Parts: sequence; C-alpha cells; structure tokens
Amino acid sequence: MTQEELNIRSQFSILYEKIYSKPLIYLDNGATTQKPKRVLDAMQRVYEHLNSNVHRGVHYLSNQCTDLLEEARRVVARHLNAREDAEIIFTRGTTESINLLAFSFGETFCKSGDEIIVTELEHHSNIVPWQMLCQRKGMTLRVIPITDDGELKIEELDNLINDKTKLISLAHVSNVMGTVNPVKEVVAKAHAKNIPVMVDGAQSAPHMSIDVQDLDCDFLVFSGHKVYAPTGSGVLYGKREYLDQMVPYHGGGEMIDKVSFSGTTYNVLPFKFEAGTPDYVATIGLAEAIRFVDEIGFEFIEKHEQHLLQYTLSQLQDHYGVRIIGNPKRRSGVVSFLLGKAHPYDVGMILDKMGVAVRTGHHCAQPLMERLGISGTVRASFGVYNSEEDVDTFIRAVRQAAIMLS
Ligand code: PLP
Repeated sequence: MTQEELNIRSQFSILYEKIYSKPLIYLDNGATTQKPKRVLDAMQRVYEHLNSNVHRGVHYLSNQCTDLLEEARRVVARHLNAREDAEIIFTRGTTESINLLAFSFGETFCKSGDEIIVTELEHHSNIVPWQMLCQRKGMTLRVIPITDDGELKIEELDNLINDKTKLISLAHVSNVMGTVNPVKEVVAKAHAKNIPVMVDGAQSAPHMSIDVQDLDCDFLVFSGHKVYAPTGSGVLYGKREYLDQMVPYHGGGEMIDKVSFSGTTYNVLPFKFEAGTPDYVATIGLAEAIRFVDEIGFEFIEKHEQHLLQYTLSQLQDHYGVRIIGNPKRRSGVVSFLLGKAHPYDVGMILDKMGVAVRTGHHCAQPLMERLGISGTVRASFGVYNSEEDVDTFIRAVRQAAIMLS
C-alpha cells in the first residue's frame, strides 16, 4: 500500500494550510505531530456527548468516560505488549513520566552514595530529574559518552556500572541525531548486575514498534503528542515488581485506598500513581492515535520514513556547505545539520518564510551540544504524512538559504 492508498495526508487538515501564501511543509514532528481527524473527533465526541469525571460517579456518563479511559489503557498495554494493563500509568507526557519515576523510584530504592547512569545524548527531561534526585539524596550521576558519529560508547558501560548503580536511563532514539541506541544490549549488561533500565521512548514511539517484553526494559516512557495524540497525554510503563514497591508521586484523590488523620493507605496499580482528575479526554484521544498508527502498521511507517530520511540525507549531503550532525549506523526520524557558518536560527527563519517548518537551537540537549562543540542545529523531523515532495521543497528552501546566507 502507498501513502495515497492509505489516505494518510487527507486525515490531517492542517497540512493543507498556507503559510505566507505557501503550502505548509511540516518537518517539525520531533517537537510535536499533527493530529488526524479521528483523534479530534474522538475527543469532541467525549466533550459533546459523554463528558463526566472518571472513576467516581455512579451515573451513566461517568461510567462511559471511565470505560473509555480504561479501554485506552488496554489499547496502550496491547500496543507496547505489556504483561498487564495495570503496568500502564497515564501521565501528561515524557517529562512528567520521568519526574514521577525519579521521585518514586528514588524515594523507594535510592540512598546517599548511590549512582544513576544516563548518556551524553539525552534530552534535558532525562537529565534534570535525575540531577534533582542526586541533589536530594547525595547521589552521583554518571554518563555514558558518545563517539564523534553520535553513537554510544557501549563498552564504557562496563566501567560505569558498579554495586552503587541503581538505574540506567537512556533514550531509545536521540532527538538531535536520530541515533537508535542499542537498548537490548544495555538491558542485558544491566540485568546481568540486577540493575533496572528506563527507556525514554519519546522519539522512538512515533517511528517504530515497541515491545517492552522483547526489550525487557523495566520502565519505558513516551509522550502522546509526538505520536499523533493530543498534548496532555503520556505513558509510564513499568514492571509490576517495581511499581508495586514504589511510593506514590502525587498525593490526592483516586490514588488512595483509605484516608484518615491517623494514616492513609494507597490504591492498587495503576491508580496509586494517578492522583487527581486525569486528562481523560486527551488519553481517550491517545487511544485513537494508537489505533491510527497500529492500523497503518509500523512496517509501513518505518519503511516510508526511512525512505524519506535516506532521500533527505542524499539530497543534503555535500551540498550547499551542509554539515550533517551525527552519522549513526541506525538513524530514525530526524536529521540535524548546519549550513556553512550560518546560525541555525537564521536558516530556520528563511525556511519558515518559504513555508517550511523545522526546529532550530539546542533541542533541549545542551550537554550533547557541548560534546559536539556546537551551539545548535537545524533539525528536520519526519512523520507518516510527509512525502518526497515535502523533502524536495525543503531542499529547495535550504539551497535558497545557502545562497542568501553565503
Ligand atoms: N525525551 C526526548 C528524547 C524528547 O525528544 C523529548 C521532547 O522533545 C522529551 C523527552 C520531552 O517530551 P515532552 O516535552 O513531551 O515531555
């Protein structure tokens, strides 16, 4: 099947907008994706016909919304191949999921002197919460370095792991270079020493099928809004053996079993980690977005996006003073580059005037920028609705920018 046969683009009306009278070429999918009509419809249906707070009511509407929310949990659990629905915690996104984990895991399993390992290519979301934990507890953050090509120096992990290591937390895919990290290899090394592993799936979830049992990771997080779902939806997957033991993150309604002034007991999984009214409408939208990608299938998505990625690299490489940042053997979703000595922001501004939306800057990965000795990049990132024509327009715009900035 082709993209046209699957009628993918036509489901995203925003792709037909004009920007400065030019057709929109949306290549900022790593920041957020657009939403298909079926996701918007699913949310609108809730607000127009079913809206009521979940888990608390005896009445019809409340039960309907609760059923849809719990169905969303089943959809996500099946999508990730979790062992059980209760291992799926709904959050507002990757950042909240990692903060939840850093707090709850940290309070339960960590003490002064312990260590957490991250990598040099992480997004700030997978650095700062661990730094905060380290500060709170008097712990140390260790870092797996990368090669000049932007790949993990996996052999260094053996030197970093020791009996103080409590967790390894790494991105599945780099949001700057698209490097696909060897998660299974990291998990194997970690598990050999009984150390759990958290995978930041923010940039892998939109582009590849994820099987948490196959990866054997202990935690995996992602944001709905990068997978064609609404903002305010997100997931923390965790193995029950850890989640059951972990103290809650937020206190409030729904996460309790019984509250009294002499002491409070907590609810069972997953509700122990879902205090307060959740963004159930966004989460119902997330389920529809997951159905959308699963119906297309990741076989098609990966093949289509890899084609666009390779086509872009071949068109960009060695042209117009372009320097591609990172040269990983396995790359997914994004291409970062610099144009001669031009500031990425100036390149982005010129592309914008031609209707091409890309991201510029440090991409919330300042330690990676420092390692690469640059202040930022221009980043084009792909979604299932992008086409070869999008890439052609993008390349023409880069050529134009090169002329203007030379
Ligand atoms: N981790 C990675 C690898 C990302 O690319 C991002 C967002 O760009 C995040 C974490 C944070 O995601 P969010 O802002 O949706 O919480």
